Amino acid sequence: MEYFTGTDTNPIRVAIIGSGPSAFYAAEFLLSAPGYVVEVDMFERLPSPFGLVRGGVAPDHPKIKTVTRAFERTAGHERFRFFGNVEFGHGITYHDITAHYHAVIYATGAQTDRRLNIPGEDLRNSHAATEFVAWYNGHPDYAHLSFDLSQERVAVIGNGNVAVDVARILARTPDELRQTDIADYALEALAQSKVKEIIVVGRRGPAQAKFTSLELKELGALAEADVVIDPQELELDPLSAEYLRSGESRTAVRNFEIFQEFAQNRPLNKPKRIILRFLLSPVEFIGTDRVEAIRLVKNEICERGHFMSPCPTEEYEIMPVGLVFRSIGYQGVPLPSVPFDDQQGIIPNKRGRVINEHGERRRGEYAVGWIKRGATGIIGSNKPDAQETIEYLLRDMTFHQHFCPANPARDAIVDLLERRGIRYVTYNDWRLLDRLELERGEAVGRPRVKFTSVSEMLNALDSLRQTAALRA
Ligand code: NAP
Repeated sequence: MEYFTGTDTNPIRVAIIGSGPSAFYAAEFLLSAPGYVVEVDMFERLPSPFGLVRGGVAPDHPKIKTVTRAFERTAGHERFRFFGNVEFGHGITYHDITAHYHAVIYATGAQTDRRLNIPGEDLRNSHAATEFVAWYNGHPDYAHLSFDLSQERVAVIGNGNVAVDVARILARTPDELRQTDIADYALEALAQSKVKEIIVVGRRGPAQAKFTSLELKELGALAEADVVIDPQELELDPLSAEYLRSGESRTAVRNFEIFQEFAQNRPLNKPKRIILRFLLSPVEFIGTDRVEAIRLVKNEICERGHFMSPCPTEEYEIMPVGLVFRSIGYQGVPLPSVPFDDQQGIIPNKRGRVINEHGERRRGEYAVGWIKRGATGIIGSNKPDAQETIEYLLRDMTFHQHFCPANPARDAIVDLLERRGIRYVTYNDWRLLDRLELERGEAVGRPRVKFTSVSEMLNALDSLRQTAALRA
């Protein structure tokens, strides 16, 4: 018998894989959908939630992180459950999901970096910026890394906000960093840093930089770093000049004004310098034991289709640097049993509905966030993105386009995890960890001292339980 799924007696059961902003926005839309009763179980590989808000947003941007207050409210909903420390494909499989839920939403983000694919890219001291970011944010998978901060000249390749974050963190003083929730080992390493010059390299011109204006302007307000642009770098080619004149992108116009301010400012001889360079593409990282220099080709802007593309000239430049961060974008990674578009680094989908290699819909499967659309946009961009997916999901439920779970009882998944001996972390457990991190911070006059390993988190929870048991 077909009956409507989404009532008190027959709620829609949805599993969300991942716990970053897009996951929480999706959960919020599901739990507040008028006319539908939905139960949401969120599965996260780490014991801690919030994805890139915890592991990606720069530690010196605490305001951006306050978005977690809204996620907290969602997590407090009676029909929401969090299963941390449970990895899709290991702790819980695709088959388990189809056996217990009506639908699944993949919200796994973009967990790896894009590659330049040039010689020397894997030399020592050449790193993906994404790894550096995850390291200084205390992500357990990256906490063991080390970076050679004894180098004085560093290049950051890319003109996006991640490149700005990396340049800014390298330029901050230990005192500035101490006031943030940066991982304690990163604080220590950066306090010993010898980095003096940070060169941010864009393959296109100042009119095409992808920085948001607020982030760009912030570079000019660093306590101990000057921002330097040679005014010649701001001489525009006709295409870029016309683009700015058209006012098509307010950000591009505003960014260009900021670049001009930077170029006019006289350097104050602060101990560090951030130098902005444009129209240069790395073609080779040069070095024997480690990166010693980058060979770059000079580009000019040319029209290819509708885009202002970087077209190489015959001119080359050698830039001596001892450390490189490649900041040219994030990319998604495939999930077991789920289709994947290698070219775009996303789960193939039409407006959030997952499709197979023939373009046909995969019943019950949806995507949100960066794994749906690629690594673009700010945290808030995930709200309309998740809304679109959830609208389709609910519509599909009405037409019975969902998995037909053999075992939809709410407790069944808990029984399964326990039978398998999987040590899952609930949202209440996370709240305890959160409080401990804040207390550890308070003890040393910092906003938070993060746990940076999974075992550390699980041990801390065990200790709390033992103490509670002794008291009882
Ligand atoms: P992004 O904004 O896409 O920037 C990537 C940069 O890499 C672009 O300048 C791009 O140049 C360049 N690039 C790509 N391929 C290249 C190649 N082969 N050689 C040289 N350069 C290359 O990516 P992102 O900085 O990783 O940021 C990801 C998203 O997160 C963005 O939407 C960003 O705004 C957001 N984010 C926001 C904040 C914030 O709001 N504070 C902080 C961090 C990140 P082209 O433009 O020529 O392609």
